[in-house]
Amino acid sequence: MSTKVAVVIGANKGIGFAIVRGLCKRFNGTVYLTSRDEERGKIAVETLKNEGLNPSYHQLDITNKKSVESFRDYIKTKYEGIDILINNAAIAFKQNATEPVAVQAEQTLYVNFFSLTSTCEILFPIVKNGGRVINVSSSAGHLSRIPSENLRNKLKDSKLTLPELIALMQKYVDDAKQGIQAEEWGNSSYAVSKVGVTALTKVQQRMLSDRDIKVNAVHPGYVDTDMTSHKGVLTIDEGASAPLFLALDAPDSVRGQYVWNDCKIVSW
Ligand code: NDP
Repeated sequence: MSTKVAVVIGANKGIGFAIVRGLCKRFNGTVYLTSRDEERGKIAVETLKNEGLNPSYHQLDITNKKSVESFRDYIKTKYEGIDILINNAAIAFKQNATEPVAVQAEQTLYVNFFSLTSTCEILFPIVKNGGRVINVSSSAGHLSRIPSENLRNKLKDSKLTLPELIALMQKYVDDAKQGIQAEEWGNSSYAVSKVGVTALTKVQQRMLSDRDIKVNAVHPGYVDTDMTSHKGVLTIDEGASAPLFLALDAPDSVRGQYVWNDCKIVSW
């Protein structure tokens, strides 16, 4: 039988690191801890090895197409494909950040939405039939975060296509550059990027309708990590539990859903 492969993107710290830890304990296959910075990634691997776990490592920066392609090619030559793909990498400006909204919008959407989307386009062809993809969204990825009813209707349209979603997210960045985003999109670039991730999950599930691949979005809870300046109330292992549920335990019927940290499906 071929080796099964799980990949966690953005896993040198925080929730991604804990997802790798959980997979190493429970997944019957090889688990890849990936990070944009090789040194930080290798330190994380050593930490888990000291716990008696055995993750594999590969560099992967979602904003660098060449990095993603070289990871894809490496997996293709070594294995039959990917069984579990966890898209966890993201950035967030702090609440007191002084960068103008135009800069925050462009950079946040670039990493959290556009780079996630292009990474999926590169890696989905090697996700095996029967595979599972988990997009780490947020409670901020709930549609109610978008004030405009017109936009909400477009985002939740069951016929929304990937090019249309990309155009909507680009429209947000363009609106922010003109300083006219707040009324329709609200005040948080992070929220818009995560609404984009939840919408993307549904679009991707439709696009994969001819293959047996489950794609779900998850809110991991409010977790004690660098991203939350350690204000989150959950440990990273608690934050990993819903992503691990979707990767290992959820019934195959759970597809294209938005799942909360209590593992329950939430109406978007
Ligand atoms: P952290 O900031 O602790 O970790 C984020 C991880 O993503 C780091 O490993 C970081 O690497 C990596 N990353 C950032 N940019 C890239 C990139 N271009 N390519 C590859 N990896 C990258 O955040 P959390 O653990 O808190 O967050 C994990 C996920 O959970 C995110 O998607 C976040 O939005 C989401 N989330 C978190 C919540 C929380 O309360 N913490 C709540 C809701 C959602 P590096 O160390 O190099 O920066």
